[in-house]
Amino acid sequence: MDTARFVRHIASSTNEEAAAKAAAATTDTGGPTIFDKIIAKGIPSSIVYEDENVLAFRDINPQAPVHVLVIPKVRDGLTGLNKAEPRHTEILGQLLYAAKVVAEKEGVANGYRVVINNGAEGCQSVYHLHLHVLGGRQMKWPPG
Ligand code: AMP
Repeated sequence: MDTARFVRHIASSTNEEAAAKAAAATTDTGGPTIFDKIIAKGIPSSIVYEDENVLAFRDINPQAPVHVLVIPKVRDGLTGLNKAEPRHTEILGQLLYAAKVVAEKEGVANGYRVVINNGAEGCQSVYHLHLHVLGGRQMKWPPG
């Protein structure tokens, strides 16, 4: 990576971390999020999969050629994975299964990544549990 690109990379990671920390400090209140508006179809989104319990739509700021968010339609306290209780195991399984269906629908079943950012240190910015399904390019490990 050349120096200018490296500096841009560090600046953008730092901004992402700062934004996530600010979001964590101000929004993990259990209040409505932008995803409620998407579920209610109050704002537009590009939906790729939907069933009774789960909605999957394209991320507005894609980090890969395929970048889809999979969310529960009813949050039921799941602002993040750390809020999971035994009553949530069914919806957690449905979300993971939906991620697999989305990967197939998007043509990336041979290789993709499913990510849950949790909390400020996990760079979570929207406090409604969501899985990121990322694919269509070679993933790297370890993740940043
Ligand atoms: P996280 O940082 O893990 O909380 O992920 C939140 C994701 O929501 C980010 O990747 C954002 O780009 C995405 N996002 C925020 N607002 C919207 C929106 N209106 N439509 C689609 N994706 C969104």
